[in-house]
Amino acid sequence: MMQTGSAPRRRSVAVNVGGVLVGSEHPIVVQSMTNTDTADEVGTAIQVAELARAGSEIVRITVDREEAAAAVPAIRQRLDDMGLRVPLVGDFHFNGHKLLAKYPGCAAALDKFRINPGNVGRGSRRDEQFADMIRTAIDCDKPVRIGVNWGSLDQDLLARMMDANAGLAQPLEARDVMMEALITSALDSAARAEELGLGHDRIVLSCKMSGVQDLIRIYADLAARCDYPLHLGLTEAGMGSKGIVASSAAVGILLQQGIGDTIRISLTPEPGAPRTQEVVVAQELLQTMGLRAFTPLVAACPGCGRTTSTLFQELAGDIQQFVRDRMPVWRQTYHGVEDMSLAVMGCVVNGPGESKHANIGISLPGTGEHPVAPVYEDGEKTVTLKGDNLAGDFKIVIEKYVERRYPRLSAAPETTSSEG
Ligand code: SF4
Repeated sequence: MMQTGSAPRRRSVAVNVGGVLVGSEHPIVVQSMTNTDTADEVGTAIQVAELARAGSEIVRITVDREEAAAAVPAIRQRLDDMGLRVPLVGDFHFNGHKLLAKYPGCAAALDKFRINPGNVGRGSRRDEQFADMIRTAIDCDKPVRIGVNWGSLDQDLLARMMDANAGLAQPLEARDVMMEALITSALDSAARAEELGLGHDRIVLSCKMSGVQDLIRIYADLAARCDYPLHLGLTEAGMGSKGIVASSAAVGILLQQGIGDTIRISLTPEPGAPRTQEVVVAQELLQTMGLRAFTPLVAACPGCGRTTSTLFQELAGDIQQFVRDRMPVWRQTYHGVEDMSLAVMGCVVNGPGESKHANIGISLPGTGEHPVAPVYEDGEKTVTLKGDNLAGDFKIVIEKYVERRYPRLSAAPETTSSEG
């Protein structure tokens, strides 16, 4: 019963990033980035594993100095030892050409290099150092992301374009020139990489900005001018609801236009919040738009004066966590569970109607209502729960529904219900 959308996808080439296909008709890929010191191989491997287990299909790590480059093969080995083949992307700035040359094990262990043309070097050294990185990518058979960022735009290019614009009879606004410079930097760098011998199908592009309208505009333009897969993300999106809303607005509008082959939600983690939040937001964005399904989502009413106890909010949160916790087992055992929808409604006024639209829905008793909770499965009322263990009883209903409704994958292990 998941709402499935069918936003038309822009046609792009497919790029193989360590076995994950990005672009063309392939599913939009979720990626993330660590915030550990890469030289700390244990801490970084642990965080990559957390991100991968949360659903990140590609993980980027900073490679900023020799100690970090030296640690990359050990990080890869630790992940392999954990059975996690998640592709690793190295994020390079200023000294990437040196690090890749001096640490061939780093180049070999990475699945993609992220190169920012604005941070490769200045003048003629920029071209040489960019070429060195591209040649390493060719030699190691690695794809690259040419990732332009408005905060680190190639200043020589911008100055040249500003000068040329000033000589026009009708000069563009400075902001328009800056946006064109970002796109030019990305496309010219990609063309240069191809001249050096890198395959057309070994290049992903990004042009990140921090303003929602700017990002939508620049990606719409970029998408119309090339068929490279595009990595979407609002840079410096911010913290908490601001970061989530801004990223979702910008990335969601572009995805609806069929633009974007891989996404990253660049959230600033709140103190103590897990890094994996950016993966959850990316997945939920794709899932609520009907573009991919990862984990059953729980629909819940907002509550109102009829829900004066916290039972309803607690149950909605408890059930969402329950399905997240069970999903790793369900995914390996049953086919299609990620499409399941659940509803937790606060009272019997609108609850039953809404519950019937989900695979499984429950309507809790509102204030003054009988202390019973009718459960609907595939639109039919199947049981009425009562007593002090509504959450536990409802989880048993969900577990049995999954066992009954979704075909078992061949060679899947017997499941053990967490509720006995
Ligand atoms: S379902 Fe009931 S509790 Fe929830 S918002 Fe509607 S009326 Fe209020």
